[in-house]
Amino acid sequence: MYGTIKHQGKKLAFSNRIKLIKPSSTMALTSKANEMRRQGDDVLVLTVGEPDFDTPQYIKDAAKKAIDMGATKYTSVDGTPELKEAIVNKFKNENNLSFKTDEVIVSAGCKQSIFNMLQVLIDNGDEVVIPEPYWVSYSDMVVYAGGKPIMLETTYQNNFDIDITQLENCLSKNTKLLMINSPNNPSGKYFNTKTLTDIAELLVNNRNIFVSSDDIYEHIHWHEEGFHNILNVAPGLKNRTIVLNGVSKAYSMTGWRIGYAAGDSEVIKKMKTLQSQSTSCASSISQAAACAALSNECKELPNMRAEYKKRHDFVVSQLNQIKGVLCKETDGTFYVFPSFKEYINNHDLTDDNDLAMKLLNEAKVAVVPGSAFGMTGHLRLSIAIDMKSLEDAMMRIKSLLS
Ligand code: GLU
Repeated sequence: MYGTIKHQGKKLAFSNRIKLIKPSSTMALTSKANEMRRQGDDVLVLTVGEPDFDTPQYIKDAAKKAIDMGATKYTSVDGTPELKEAIVNKFKNENNLSFKTDEVIVSAGCKQSIFNMLQVLIDNGDEVVIPEPYWVSYSDMVVYAGGKPIMLETTYQNNFDIDITQLENCLSKNTKLLMINSPNNPSGKYFNTKTLTDIAELLVNNRNIFVSSDDIYEHIHWHEEGFHNILNVAPGLKNRTIVLNGVSKAYSMTGWRIGYAAGDSEVIKKMKTLQSQSTSCASSISQAAACAALSNECKELPNMRAEYKKRHDFVVSQLNQIKGVLCKETDGTFYVFPSFKEYINNHDLTDDNDLAMKLLNEAKVAVVPGSAFGMTGHLRLSIAIDMKSLEDAMMRIKSLLS
C-alpha cells in the first residue's frame, strides 16, 4: 500500500524520503473525528490545537480592505514590507529583541517556517535535540530533512522540565540544532529564565549548535514570570538562534496561515531561497490581516487568554478526580497533558493509543495519544473548545472511566 503505485502492471515507486514520515497525528485524528461528526456521530473534538474564537473583527476588516484595494497579487517571497516592519516592531515592543527586516521571513504558517529552517540547516546525519514531549511534526520534519532526532526525556514528576545534565548527555559532535518550544505543546510547560540560562550556558561551550525557539504560544501564557525566550537571557546566541512565531494561536487565525521566523540574515536568506522554489509567498490577503493583528492592540486577546485559563482550571480539576489519572496545572497553551499510566495499568488497556480509541468509540470524545508527542501513557486534550462542550466531554470521560 505504501511506497508504490501500480500502473499497467508495473510498480512505480515513491521517493525514499517520503516513506520515512507519517501523517501528522493531530491533523489525521481531527479529520477522523470530523468525519465521524459528518456521519452523524455526536463526537466532541479535543484533538486539534485550534482556537474556537472567531478572528477579531478589526483583523477581518483589514483583509476585506486588502481585497478591495487590489492587494491580491504575489508579494515578495519573504513577505510584504509592511508586515515585516510590523514583525520587527512586535519583536521590539513585546520581546525586547532587535531584528532588522532582512532578518525576518513570513511563511504560510509557523509550520512552514519550521520546515524551511530544518531544510536549510540540517544535513544527512545531523543530530537535532528535541525535548520530549514535543509537537508531533518536529521529529518527522527533522527526519524528512535527513536529520536524526535525539530525544531529550523529561518526566511528569520533574514537571516536564529540562534536566541540564541530561541535555549535555544528548549533545555530540554531530549535534546541529536544539529545538525549544515554550510554552510547550503538548505539556503546557514554560521553560523559565533559570532553565533557559542553564541551557544557554551549556551552548556557550558548544559553539556549532543552532537553537530554535518556537514561541507560538507566547500569548497563551500564565506563568508568573511573564514570557521570555532564550535570546532574552542570552543575547550572545543571537546569530545562531532562530525565533519562530505566528498569528494563528494568539489571534485565532489558524486558517489564515501566517507564521514567521527571525534569525541571522544569511539563514533567513536561505529560507527565502527555498520558499521561492516552493510556495513563493504567503497569501497577500492574510499578510494584510496579520499586519493589522500585530500593529494594533488586540482587545480580545486578554479575554481569550482568561477563558483558556478558566477552562484549564476546570479540566485539570475534573481529570484529577479520576482514579489513576494525574493532571498537572500548565503554564500556558490550550492543552492539558494528563498521565493515564496508572489507569492503563489497572485496566484492560494496552497503551495510550488503545485508551484514545476507547474514548473515541465509547465516549465519543476525540483526543490525541501521548505517544504521538513522544510520551506514552499520556493523552493530550485541547481545551480550545467552548466551556459547554468541555463540561460535556469531562462528564463523558468521567462516566466511562470511573
Ligand atoms: N499545532 C496544532 C496542534 O498541535 C495544530 C495542528 C498541527 O499543525 O499539528 O494541534
